[in-house]
Amino acid sequence: MGKSSKDKRDAYYRLAKEQGWRARSAFKLLQLDEEFNLFENVTRVVDLCAAPGSWSQVLSRVLIKGESFGRCAWQDREAKFRQNMLKVIPSDAAGDSDEVTKPNKPVNEGPRQDVKIVSIDLQPISPLPGIITLRADITHPATVPLLLKALNPDYDPETMNQQAQHPVDLVISDGAPDVTGLHDLDIYVQSQLLFAALNLALCVLKPGGKFVAKIFRGRNVDLLYAQLKVFFEKVYVAKPRSSRASSVEAFIVCINFQPPEGFKASLEEPLGVGGRLPQMQAEQQEATTAQDDAPNDDGIVDMEIEDLTPSNPQDQKSIRWVAPFVACGDLSAFDSDASYRLPDDHVSLDPVQPPTAPPYKRAIELRRANGGAYGKVPIASK
Ligand code: SAM
Repeated sequence: MGKSSKDKRDAYYRLAKEQGWRARSAFKLLQLDEEFNLFENVTRVVDLCAAPGSWSQVLSRVLIKGESFGRCAWQDREAKFRQNMLKVIPSDAAGDSDEVTKPNKPVNEGPRQDVKIVSIDLQPISPLPGIITLRADITHPATVPLLLKALNPDYDPETMNQQAQHPVDLVISDGAPDVTGLHDLDIYVQSQLLFAALNLALCVLKPGGKFVAKIFRGRNVDLLYAQLKVFFEKVYVAKPRSSRASSVEAFIVCINFQPPEGFKASLEEPLGVGGRLPQMQAEQQEATTAQDDAPNDDGIVDMEIEDLTPSNPQDQKSIRWVAPFVACGDLSAFDSDASYRLPDDHVSLDPVQPPTAPPYKRAIELRRANGGAYGKVPIASK
């Protein structure tokens, strides 16, 4: 698909390039923030699976530069952009004209010195103002001390108290594996990545902190919601308007971290994945009815429910729990599943930040070395 055709089919892709975002995902975070005020009273933030860096750009601009991206800023620019496009579609263009007269610039409350943001990915992230970037694997236990050291160079687990070891107000994760197209496998791998993000968040979040992560909604996702409810006062499942309705993608938004008494998070012994899996399954079988014992084909495995008993007796009985669903983003925003007509003089822009080390890079090199797609020697036999 050419750039221009993608511009037509994906308004957020085009808008991201217009507004200088490295990826269209920026709008997902902005729309989530619009609904949940994620950045309120936040000074220590961790962005997991952050490359190419559009979520980090949002953090940098809102928390460090002090720009305000409430409904005013990005949507006004969107309205202006849309009005521009609608010049060639006379039918309902007039309706948008009022919005365009609103101020077009983000409100700037001034730069902040007290904010620290660490962004982590397997891929290198090109530098961003005020962001500390780490190239690391979020599933690896060594990543937690690395991250805490980046937030506080004096970090020392031997001498620091528990409170100082949990300094983070907000952990966000947009983690996604390379999608294979095999639906069940993709959902399974995604759930493993989600548990890695959750385990890491449990290690660094301070009480009262927030956790936001991408999920693929599959069967038994209500088990995951119930597990999150053990740790957070409020758990929502949110679908920003910039996330395609046709996609199983959604975001869990967990507010007010309240670790159960005696709980000790660890990436050596993570919850939901790895070595504790059979043990947890056995415990789960004891703790639930035959109905709830149904095998979980999403890779979502219950934690030690009895050890992590929530204080609310109602919650103790229910292993499954349905999180409130919140559609976020203003209804006037672009529909991510719709195609929009472009003006005849539309110029398609290049992406703001091409991938630094995409997984397909090696394949392209091999293909080039082989004389193109129809080279004489098959790559596999090289
Ligand atoms: N939020 C990003 C943005 O706004 O630009 C986009 C994130 S992209 C959808 C998913 C990222 O997850 C990829 O860059 C990938 O390298 C990263 N990822 C996947 N597995 C990871 C892992 N185990 N550790 C760290 N990053 C990982």
